Amino acid sequence: MIIGIDDTDSNDGMCTTYLGALLLDELQAYGTVETLPLLIRLNPTIPYKTRGNAAVALKIRTDCPEKIRAHVVSRIEELAHMECEKTNPGTVFILEKDYERLSPVLKSFLEKAIRDVIEIKEAKNLILEFGISSKGFKNGRGLIGALAACGAMLNLETWDHTFEHLAYRQKESWGTPREVEKESFFEADRKTYPGTWDTVDIKNRLVVCVPHSADPVLFGIRGENPAIVTEAAALIRAEPVERFAVYRTNQGTDMHLLSVSSIAYIQDMHSYRLEGVVSGTPRTISGGHVIFPIRDKEGNEIDCAAFEPTKNFRLLIRKLRPGDRVALSGSVSSGTLNIEKIEVKAIASLYKEENPECPNCGKHMKSSGQVQGFRCKKCGTHAASKLTCEVKRDLTTGLYEVPPCARRHLAKPLVREQKSDLNIHPAR
Ligand code: ATP
Repeated sequence: MIIGIDDTDSNDGMCTTYLGALLLDELQAYGTVETLPLLIRLNPTIPYKTRGNAAVALKIRTDCPEKIRAHVVSRIEELAHMECEKTNPGTVFILEKDYERLSPVLKSFLEKAIRDVIEIKEAKNLILEFGISSKGFKNGRGLIGALAACGAMLNLETWDHTFEHLAYRQKESWGTPREVEKESFFEADRKTYPGTWDTVDIKNRLVVCVPHSADPVLFGIRGENPAIVTEAAALIRAEPVERFAVYRTNQGTDMHLLSVSSIAYIQDMHSYRLEGVVSGTPRTISGGHVIFPIRDKEGNEIDCAAFEPTKNFRLLIRKLRPGDRVALSGSVSSGTLNIEKIEVKAIASLYKEENPECPNCGKHMKSSGQVQGFRCKKCGTHAASKLTCEVKRDLTTGLYEVPPCARRHLAKPLVREQKSDLNIHPAR
């Protein structure tokens, strides 16, 4: 059977992936785990999320699905932070006999949960219509993520995937500062990059795979296959680990991006890949955020932002000028696209006017007064008008991304990019 779970944590602690890891061990009393558990990231703009909008799915071969259901429900009742208003757990159970029937329905639901906004009613109606075994707590919003995660498990071959090794803290340490040896993460990165990524941010000298919140996660190593994330995790020196799990995940796949032909169709709470021409010089606003507009062929405009947490990425964005052709990916909130990646496709030629150079002395001539042309101060040579010359642009075409410390879970890191015809600049 497939078990989907979501929305068990709060800002004060817990993590649905921890519950998944715990159940993965405990449910072996009732059956055999068939495949790696799934950690599925859903629409990153959803306001109900606690942190990264993750849901979990497990697949177990069993003769006693009812016992599994009872165990999962009791563990959620025991561990979920029900007292938090935003915590509304949901769990869904799909029996093997229903896999084929539910596979296409839940595939569409998964895609919608990643790219669009779903009402709780829609999840509940689907559960009723297809007679799916489920249990929602409080308003049951977690049923959305639970159904989506089951959709991912039923359609494993249809979506790009990566892996994450998640190590969890011993219970008595929860809520206390994490004891980790920073240098060991840099060592692990040196030995396993580019098979792993986002362990550290080298330019900003940061360990990015250790959370700072009260949840049970000690660290998470992301990478291309289970062997490499396990190899990197083994190199980490830190406080004792209670348990770990290697999840198959849609992190780092760009699965959230919708292609859009016109800016007119863009909506808040959705993520896009779109092309346009820079239509204003980037400006830095209070807080250090850099904003500029782009325009599409029909003249529609949208503001695009490299926010302060994107650090050095803003240096690149500040080099853009009106006329540059770009393709951007990112999420839209409050009418502004939060840039995850940018492809600089064509760099506009810019010109400026300069006083002419003296052909004899090589010095810049001085103006002789309004409408009187220019004169060389040294030899007296005269020129009628200013020279128009091309400005040297300190910008190269190619693909750029925000640094690891600012990466969205679903954003595909450039280190995973296979396109050899593009000038790719992975951030490290
Ligand atoms: P957790 O570790 O508990 O999963 P989280 O940061 O991943 O924490 P949740 O606490 O799960 O976030 O909150 C996200 C909520 O939003 C869940 O109830 C989930 O079902 C719901 N949700 C996910 N995707 C969508 C969507 N596309 N439309 C509407 N609701 C969604």
